[in-house]
Amino acid sequence: MAYDFDLYVIGAGSGGVRAARFAAGFGAKVAVAESRYLGGTCVNVGCVPKKLLVYGAHFAEDFEQASGFGWGLDEAQFDWPTLIANKDREINRLNGIYRNLLVNSGVTLHEGHAKIVDPHQVEINGERFTARNILIATGGWPQIPEIPGHEHAISSNQAFFLKELPKRVLVVGGGYIAVEFAGIFHGLGAKTTLLYRGELFLRGFDGSVRKHLQEELTKRGMDLQFNADIERIDKLADGSLKVTLKDGRQLEADCVFYATGRRPMLDNLGLENTGVKLDRKGFVEVDELYQTAEPSILALGDVIGRVQLTPVALAEGMAVARRLFKPEQYRPVDYKMIPTAVFSLPNIGTVGLTEEEAREAGHEVQIFESRFRPMKLTLTECQERTLMKLVVDANTDKVLGCHMVGPEAGEIVQGLAIALKAGATKRDFDETIGVHPTAAEEFVTMRTPVAG
Ligand code: FAD
Ligand code: NDP
Repeated sequence: MAYDFDLYVIGAGSGGVRAARFAAGFGAKVAVAESRYLGGTCVNVGCVPKKLLVYGAHFAEDFEQASGFGWGLDEAQFDWPTLIANKDREINRLNGIYRNLLVNSGVTLHEGHAKIVDPHQVEINGERFTARNILIATGGWPQIPEIPGHEHAISSNQAFFLKELPKRVLVVGGGYIAVEFAGIFHGLGAKTTLLYRGELFLRGFDGSVRKHLQEELTKRGMDLQFNADIERIDKLADGSLKVTLKDGRQLEADCVFYATGRRPMLDNLGLENTGVKLDRKGFVEVDELYQTAEPSILALGDVIGRVQLTPVALAEGMAVARRLFKPEQYRPVDYKMIPTAVFSLPNIGTVGLTEEEAREAGHEVQIFESRFRPMKLTLTECQERTLMKLVVDANTDKVLGCHMVGPEAGEIVQGLAIALKAGATKRDFDETIGVHPTAAEEFVTMRTPVAG
C-alpha cells in the first residue's frame, strides 16, 4: 500500500524534531504535527527559558560581590516584566529557527492537534494522512496532586509567564524543577520557601551533594522545609494564599508553585484506536528499539518516561531515524554515564554513579572529596563553598562517578563525562595536568581518599 508519508511524527519537541529532520535527511517522506509550540517543552517552557531566568537571578550575587573588587553600585533594581519580555522575544526567535530547520530539511509541518485514528492513520485539522510508521513524541505535562485548592497553584508552565514577580513564593517538590525555580525566585528577590515531603531533597543524587546544596541554600537565606506536605490551599479575600500543612502548620504566600513531576502527554491522542500499551506509571511502553506494542507505532522522549532530559530525547530521535531509514548507521542509545546538571544557585553537575549507587552495586569504593571557597569569592564577604567528589572503584581504579556543587558545575561535568565514558581511572585523573587557576583543576588534584 502507498502511504502519504513514510514517517508521521506527533510532537515537534526535542525528540520529534530530531527524528523528523534526520529521517527526511535520509530520504524519507516525513510529516511532523505540533499543536502548541515549535521546539516543544525545552525551548518554550523548559531548559531554555529556565536557564535565561537562572542567569537573571545570578546577577543578584554578582552585584553583591562586585564591591569586593572595587566596584561601587547604586542599589540594583530588578524589573521582572523586562526579563520576561526579553525572554519571550528570544523564544520567538528560536521558534522561527525550528520552523526553518524543519521546512529546510524537507519535513511537512502540520500545525494542530494530531489524533491517531488507526495504526497507520493520523487526523489533524479535519484531514487524514496515512503513514507507514507513526512516532509518538508528545512529551510530558506538569502533574499537580489534587489536594483541596490545587487550582490556586501554578506549575512551571505558568511560572514563565507571570505578570509580576510574587513577593512570597512557596515551591513544592524536591526535584530538578523545584530546586531550580526556588533559586530563580530567591535570586530575583522573592521571599522563597521550598517545601519537600521527604527528609532531604534531590532523591537519587549523591548524598554529599544533597547535603552540601542544603547548607549552601540555607546560608543564602532560602527557607527549606523538609518533611513538609501540603493538605490544602485557600484563597484569602486579599488574593493571597493560605497553605495548611499536614502537620497543622499554616503558611501564607502570594504564589504556590508545584513541581511534583510530569505525566506523559497522551490527551486525546487516540491510543484507544491502537494496540499501544502503557507501563504501570502510565508512560508509553516501548522495547529497546522504541517500538510500542503496535508494530507500526514508535515512541520516544519524555512520553516513554525513561530519562526526561533533552539530550536523551535527541539521542533517541537520532536512533529511531537511523534504525528506520539508515540501518547501517544505527547505534543504540547508551543510557549509562548520562551527565546532568541542576541549575540551582549554586549549580550541581554530576555524571556516573553516586557513592550510594556504587556501594549498592557491590563496588569497593574509595571516595575523594574537596570542599573549598572559590578563588573569586576571596575578595568578598560571600562564604559559599564548592564541593567536588570522585567515587572510585578501589579494585580497578576506575572513576565511577564525579559530582560537583559550585559555579559552572554543569559546564565542568561535560568534559568529565567524556573521560568517564572512555573508562578513565583515578590514575588518569592524577596524571592529567590541571588548568590553573580554575576550580575545575581540583578534579585532577585530589590525592587522599576521605572514605573507603
Ligand atoms: P517535548 O519537548 O515536550 O515535545 C513534545 C511536543 O509534542 C510538544 O511541543 C507538544 O505541544 C507536542 N504535542 C503533544 N501532543 C500533541 C498532539 N496530540 N498533537 C500535536 N502535537 C502534540 N532537560 C534538560 O536536558 N536540561 C534542562 O535544563 C531541562 N530543564 C527543564 C526545565 C523545565 C521547567 C522542564 C519542564 C523540563 C526541563 N527539561 C530539561 C526536560 C526537557 O525539556 C524534556 O526532557 C524534553 O523537552 C523532552 O523532549 P520530548 O521531545 O520528549 O517532548
Ligand atoms: P522530579 O521527578 O525530578 O521531582 C519531583 C519531585 O516532586 C520529587 O521531589 C518528588 O518527591 C516530589 N513529589 C512527587 N509527587 C509529589 C506529591 N504528590 N506531593 C509532594 N511531592 C511530590 O520532577 P520535576 O517536576 O522536578 O522535573 C521533571 C523532570 O524534568 C526531571 O525529572 C528531569 O528529568 C527534567 N528536568 C531536567 C532539568 C535539568 O536537566 N536541569 C531541569 C528540570 C527538569 P520524591 O522524591 O519523594 O518522590
